[in-house]
Amino acid sequence: MTNYYIEDNGEVRVLKFNKLKEFEDKVELVFTFNTYGNGFKFEDDIDVRKTKFIKVSKYLNINSLDIVLPKQTHTDCLKCIKNVSKTNLIDVDGLITDIKNIPLATTFADCTPLFFYDPIQNVIANVHSGWVGTTKKIGLKAVQTLIDVYDCKPKNILCFIGPCIRKDHFLVNDDCKNIFEELFKDFINKYNIIEITDKFNEKGRQYSIDTTLINKILLKDIGILEENIFDSELCTMCNSDKFHSRRAEGINYEANTGIMFLK
Ligand SMILES: [Zn+2]
Repeated sequence: MTNYYIEDNGEVRVLKFNKLKEFEDKVELVFTFNTYGNGFKFEDDIDVRKTKFIKVSKYLNINSLDIVLPKQTHTDCLKCIKNVSKTNLIDVDGLITDIKNIPLATTFADCTPLFFYDPIQNVIANVHSGWVGTTKKIGLKAVQTLIDVYDCKPKNILCFIGPCIRKDHFLVNDDCKNIFEELFKDFINKYNIIEITDKFNEKGRQYSIDTTLINKILLKDIGILEENIFDSELCTMCNSDKFHSRRAEGINYEANTGIMFLK
C-alpha cells in the first residue's frame, strides 16, 4: 500500500499524495514523471523553463507564467513569497508562502524533494534538499521558518517526501562520507545511515548514505510527528524509466518538478 497515487490525462503524468485528498480544496501538490516531455534541464533559462510548464499548468488550471521557480544552487536559502514575482530568484532552494494561488516550483534529479503543509496556519513550503542541502539542513531550516515567521506548530506540519535517490544508490567516497560523519556525529552511529559497500570507483571504496533518513531524523528532532511524514519511498535511480535521474541519465540529465500551491 503506497501513500501516493498517479494521475495521467494523456498530456501530463503526476504523483500525488493520498493524505492531501483530505485538503484537496485547500492545497495542491504534484510531482511530475518523465513522460510527455515533462523534463527540465538545469541550464535552461528560467523563462524557457516556464514555457515547459504549459501542459502541467493547464492540468492544474494555473497560469504557467505565475509559477515561481528559483535558480537552485544547493544552498540553504529559503524565500518567503508574497506575490507572483517576475524577478528571477537566484541561489534559492526553498520557497514558502501563505498566500493563495502562488504556485511554488522546485526541480529535482535525484535530490530530495521535501514538501510541507500546515493545515492550521495554511502555509506551504517547497524545498530542494540534495545531499549538499541536506548537510546544510535546509529542510530543518524550512520548518524553523514556518515556526518563526508563520507561527506554525511542528505537530501540525505535514511533510511529504518525493521520489529521490535512496540509500542503495547514493554511493560516495571517503571525502563525502567524512563530511556526513562529522556533521551528524550526534546520531549517525545510532541509526543505520552509512554503510560500507563492496563497490569501488577510481577514488576508492564507496559508501552508501541514507540522506532521506537524515532528513527524517532532523525533522522529528524539531517536532514533526512520525505519522505526519509521508514518504513516497520511491528511488529515482531504481525508477529511472519513470522519473528523471541525474545518475541514470548522465550529463544530459533532465529534472522532475514539484509544484505546490494554496487554493
Ligand atoms: Zn535505487
